[in-house]
Amino acid sequence: MSEPCIGCGAKIAKIDGPIHRYMTSAPGCWARYGELLGILSIEPRLQAARQMCVDAYAVTHPGRPNPQAIRSVAVHLLNLHDYLVRLRPVGVPRLLGRKRDFHWLHPPSFRSTRTVVDIPLSGSDDSIAPAARAWAESVWEAWSGHHAQIATWSAEQGTS
Ligand SMILES: [Zn+2]
Repeated sequence: MSEPCIGCGAKIAKIDGPIHRYMTSAPGCWARYGELLGILSIEPRLQAARQMCVDAYAVTHPGRPNPQAIRSVAVHLLNLHDYLVRLRPVGVPRLLGRKRDFHWLHPPSFRSTRTVVDIPLSGSDDSIAPAARAWAESVWEAWSGHHAQIATWSAEQGTS
């Protein structure tokens, strides 16, 4: 049995299980993501891929408008903007203290975006890393209606 994920739309095995507090998903999607992070976390060469997966997952499971979800979506979109648009190194920590007035960005459709099931859970690093980047690029594209806002926030925030 499978079901569509309420967040990203992935067709995912229907299971009972926990989900994240505010990144709303199907339990199967959250479980698959956990499995993926487990694999990525033990391989130093995959740390950039791991960051891309974290960002891609967060912004395709935006949940409902509340302070944590608003901040999470904004911060992860800012990360994507940093390395996909500004071509900064992946995983450079941001100083978030100065920027507080994020607002809710209405999520786009993720119908044509890649999802967590497109990332192989086995195989070489050379198959996982490009899949993670393609996932990040596809979700960034889905959010294109908000790119200008993200660029504005990025400029307001500064990078160092
Ligand atoms: Zn999902």
